Amino acid sequence: MVAEKRRLPAETRLKGVALAPGVALGRACFYTRRSAEPDTTVPAAAPQESQRLNDALNWLARERSVLARQAAARLGPEHAEIFEAHRLMLSDECLRSRLLRSIEDNARSAEAAVEMELSDYREQLAGSGSEYLQQRVADINEIQQGLLAYLRHTTACRHCTEAANCSIGHCPLGNDHILVSEEITASLPIETDRHTTGFIVTNSGPDSHAVILARALHRPVVGDIHDLPAAIPADARILLDGDSGDVILNPTRETLAHYQGALAGHGHKVQMSGPVPGLTVMANIGQSGDVGDALAAGAEGVGLYRTEMEMLVAGRLLGEHEQAARYSEVAKAMGGRPVCIRLLDLGSDKTADWLTDTLGDQTAARQRGARLLLEHPELLRTQARALARASLAGPVQVLYPMIVSLDQFLELRALFDQAVSDLPASRLQHGVLFEVPGACLTAGRIMQAADFGCIGTNDLIQYLFADDRSHSAAHNHAGFETDTVLWELMETLSRAAARADKPMSICGEVAGNPDFTGRIMQAGIRAISASPTRIAGVRQAARQHGATTPKARS
Ligand code: PEP
Ligand code: MG
Repeated sequence: MVAEKRRLPAETRLKGVALAPGVALGRACFYTRRSAEPDTTVPAAAPQESQRLNDALNWLARERSVLARQAAARLGPEHAEIFEAHRLMLSDECLRSRLLRSIEDNARSAEAAVEMELSDYREQLAGSGSEYLQQRVADINEIQQGLLAYLRHTTACRHCTEAANCSIGHCPLGNDHILVSEEITASLPIETDRHTTGFIVTNSGPDSHAVILARALHRPVVGDIHDLPAAIPADARILLDGDSGDVILNPTRETLAHYQGALAGHGHKVQMSGPVPGLTVMANIGQSGDVGDALAAGAEGVGLYRTEMEMLVAGRLLGEHEQAARYSEVAKAMGGRPVCIRLLDLGSDKTADWLTDTLGDQTAARQRGARLLLEHPELLRTQARALARASLAGPVQVLYPMIVSLDQFLELRALFDQAVSDLPASRLQHGVLFEVPGACLTAGRIMQAADFGCIGTNDLIQYLFADDRSHSAAHNHAGFETDTVLWELMETLSRAAARADKPMSICGEVAGNPDFTGRIMQAGIRAISASPTRIAGVRQAARQHGATTPKARS
């Protein structure tokens, strides 16, 4: 009898949006929140409900302490703070008594007590004048959800074809797996085990808390894959490319060979390269801990430190000394090379519930960057003081985001100077991020006033071409490479800087794409800032482009 030849499933490619870089290989593992038991709305006797409540509080406190330990071990102690704060709240006797009283006095179920009392508590905190208490609102939200998930038996489960139910954070089969889910929550990247090598999701913005944490853990994420879980066959082997947004189902041997290098480097490939004469290549970072990658890539400085990432990861606004510690760590590690630290670019699509709750209004839902700082000068004041302190550890350049006009920049600068007038500081430089057409069109005047400029292509493309970046499906102005508008604008900006005798750099995704390095240099720009994983590629492209590129025309 002739043995039947087993047909391998064909390779299939799905195109998504790259949210967190890196390459990962694993089996499909489907993540769902499920209800194991119907919700009980009729409360049992008070002692039983009280017992259920106590069990829920104790369970969640234990779970948070495990998460705190895991976050500290993987990312550093500061990442454990949020979970440690939750644990402390759950062990707070006042909170416990309040919930128990609610059950006993009103004949409520444990669920109803958690829903009502914690909602009231949240409102009290939001309405209090205390900044510290307002910052706890998001924590109460998360605690409320955790307790309700326990009480209603709606804890999440994962499954693959070989094991029907796995507990979070552990694959009993030891398979490397790619988690397939509608969306990822903030705790998911932390609580999943090392076998979870990447995430495929439908909904999740690139700036979501969860995606930021996944990036910090070097786990690739691809978004905008629709019709999940149906789009992924249950037995699929998945190759995930978080740099291109490709999801490759059942990759062939040739495809695997192509990705071999990236997979051997566990998807997180920072390659060392030496400087190229005539072009300064610096690193974009989001957290102080990323400075190691910048050094590993041989970056000639930090060209963009997105400080709002620190807050989004922490889930709260950091205080002056907490910020100063992070910024100083980066300045010190860079050993005298320039470090360009951007003022908080929070708000609009870079917001979170805790931010609107902390600010006590909805400004952050509408205003972003410079405008939000002007509406809430206390944010600028704290950060300015932290930056002044950090400038003692190394040269610090302060970058102003989302500037629309010279007046707006000058107004913020004056507030900055006022905030630091009593502090010792080394000379801080102040520069404008050109990412809004209004500022670009007045670059000549702005560059006379600023110490340096930087071009932010992500927002610039969005505002030039009506191309919504937060809607990954819409962020697709395919024509911009050939459209002369962006490149002409770059030349204009570079000329404005040259006339003022000030430096002009470029950051954003275009800056890290080696396909555009030559064009950027042709536009007269001599400093590029890109993700550490992209620095070697940019330098290689610059070398091919040659050192004879004409200087900016003035
Ligand atoms: C940009 O807009 O190009 C930029 C660098 O800022 P961000 O991507 O953080 O908005
Ligand atoms: Mg921007």
